[in-house]
Amino acid sequence: MSRNNPIRGAKRRELARLIPKMTEDEAERYFASIRFGSEDQQVCPQCGTVAKHYRISNRRQWRCRSVECGHTFSVVSGTRFDASRLTNRQRFDLLVRFQDAPKGRTLADISGLVCMTEKCSHQNQMKIREAVMENLEQEPLHGVIHMDGAWVCGKFRRSARWDKLPKAGHVLARHGTAEVKQRLPRINKTSRANLRRAKNKRVMLAMVQVDPVNRGPERIIVAMCRSENARDVVALARRYIKPGSTIMTDEHPAYTDLSADYLHLVVNHSQEYSTVEGVNENMAESFFARVRRGEYGVHHGYRPRYMQLYAAEYAWRETRRRRPQSENVAELARWMLGRGYSRRWRGYHGGIKRRRHRDPRLEILMGSPEEPWQDARSKGCSSRGHAPEPACPPKP
Ligand SMILES: [Zn+2]
Repeated sequence: MSRNNPIRGAKRRELARLIPKMTEDEAERYFASIRFGSEDQQVCPQCGTVAKHYRISNRRQWRCRSVECGHTFSVVSGTRFDASRLTNRQRFDLLVRFQDAPKGRTLADISGLVCMTEKCSHQNQMKIREAVMENLEQEPLHGVIHMDGAWVCGKFRRSARWDKLPKAGHVLARHGTAEVKQRLPRINKTSRANLRRAKNKRVMLAMVQVDPVNRGPERIIVAMCRSENARDVVALARRYIKPGSTIMTDEHPAYTDLSADYLHLVVNHSQEYSTVEGVNENMAESFFARVRRGEYGVHHGYRPRYMQLYAAEYAWRETRRRRPQSENVAELARWMLGRGYSRRWRGYHGGIKRRRHRDPRLEILMGSPEEPWQDARSKGCSSRGHAPEPACPPKP
């Protein structure tokens, strides 16, 4: 699919048109074909027997043919979709709605479209984000890489002293022209509320591999940091970018050390967005533009605790937004129907919230003061029993 001939509009949304007519049987067959690779045969999750197992049709379940096993299972048993009362049709609808928005969807939006409560919508969307974070490909990037950082979370606010505003009124002051906005009270960065928000500020560092043919984003790897600093930048580049690649960045001093291992090209953003030779990092800027619209326009703010989940989600959306719906939904369904429950979100609204002993470290963050370096992703997988493995030794 080239950039000049993207699949757009109704042609790309072939699955959304199917939803109103879809039956529960069809949805179940779709998930069965993705999970078991066949519509006729199933794989028993208990003993692994591949066979046409006994069907219990009024419960939409199968019973294992193996005499010793006799396990009863459904198409979602033992997966992230387990332990929920959604119909298969709703699950299918949820995946279609989730992927069909380059800047994300709110939980209220999805709950209205798929006919579920907002709690249910929240929980299931977080399960999808978790699946995306743990399954998104993380092999090192190569070729031309655009690298940049953007501040997210902890946005400062103006003080709400409406009595000091001109009498022209609240409406003008809120929605008025730039001239009216200049008369608003200035943002006080040292107010108590803004100092509290400042603790939530994080830097999202994105490495975007540029597609040599259509010059769009091919793969994106994202990590969360406390600041845009040289130690995290070099550690991330060593872990996620092959030596000898070309890295294009802006003039920020955090990136100067990259020239040791890579061809490092710089565009000075105070003068231009792209040099005459074509050095730019527009794919990273374009990615952050969508993340920013998601922060301000869709979700109305992120929290650092969940930021790695949202970062992975946006990286997935950015590279998949021009693919046909069927490919995106099949990919999400494959990840959601992989083995293993969602440890963090299963039963979340039923009272099984994150607890210290289950998930001691909630936020996934590079280079915190106590732990010099840790792979952002291996921390995310620690809930599934893998020990986090440091990829690079910390710099002396
Ligand atoms: Zn079995």
